[in-house]
Amino acid sequence: MKILVCGGAGYIGSACTEYLLDRDFEVVVLDDLITGHRDAVDPRAKFVKMNLGERDRVIGLCKNEKFDGVMHFAAFSLVGESMTDPSKYFRNNVANGINLLDGAVAGGVKSIVFSSTAATFGQPEAIPIRENDRQIPINPYGESKLCFEKILKWYNRIFGLKYAALRYFNAAGATPFHGEDHRPESHLIPIILQAAAGTRDKVMIYGDDYDTADGTCIRDYIHILDLAQAHMLALSVPESGHYNLGTGNGLSVKEIIDCAKRTTGRDFKVETAPRRPGDPAKLVACSDLARKALGWKPQYESAEAIIESAWNWKQKFPKGYEN
Ligand code: UDP
Repeated sequence: MKILVCGGAGYIGSACTEYLLDRDFEVVVLDDLITGHRDAVDPRAKFVKMNLGERDRVIGLCKNEKFDGVMHFAAFSLVGESMTDPSKYFRNNVANGINLLDGAVAGGVKSIVFSSTAATFGQPEAIPIRENDRQIPINPYGESKLCFEKILKWYNRIFGLKYAALRYFNAAGATPFHGEDHRPESHLIPIILQAAAGTRDKVMIYGDDYDTADGTCIRDYIHILDLAQAHMLALSVPESGHYNLGTGNGLSVKEIIDCAKRTTGRDFKVETAPRRPGDPAKLVACSDLARKALGWKPQYESAEAIIESAWNWKQKFPKGYEN
């Protein structure tokens, strides 16, 4: 099968590209390299430097290459930034994404897998979060992803384009070749590992007064290879659908820090800071539907295994994609 991976130079897209190539898929990576890294593109993939805003080029690529499937990871994903620059999020994550859908229709693509997010739920009405729970985003990032989920529904109804919207909870971990390298880094696990490696002087806990057992936020950390497996399965499922992807094990910020100290064998300074605006206290997925409908079986169920994989990558590539 020939797959177009949009955003294949990013954290999850690069891991998914590696996963597909290991399973004999043919992969074309499209990326504008605004946040992605050229070195993160698997050398076995064909690389096309393109922004999804380049409508004619996007449609031309889809018509010429005749992809069987599309995976759409290309998006901006910083909640805080989306609160100060909503235009950037709606233009890229919604408007530019429509060019890709039009290309998919024009090129006769059969199946599209879309990177959605737990942020489409906003403040959850219940934990664990199920697919049909109320979706009321509390920031433009989550809203942009929810808009795109709705647009997919219409393209399915009107053009028969089959889709799977995969709502990731907290993507984490690394493959032997691909890991997390955002500039600047804002995510918990890579920040902790920078502290463990001695390149950051301390970890700040954003709030220890939440309504949780130890007062810190609870998240559902899911390994990127498990996300990759779900993408591959979602390509070939016959019906369109929406799936939550997490392990179902909620872990607090303090639990992640303790686990990282144990796993790396390194100690580092930790301080408490004020809450980060827009952070819900708990986000944990119910992923029963993905297990049942996609036959998805996550392989990395423990925080130790997830953190260990990220730590191994960090030790192999201490400067991330700079080397
Ligand atoms: N967090 C933290 N310190 C940091 C970065 C993150 O305490 O330096 C917390 C954050 O408030 C959230 C959790 O760690 O509760 C996961 O944050 P991350 O940014 O990794 O992912 P998000 O849940 O925002 O998608």
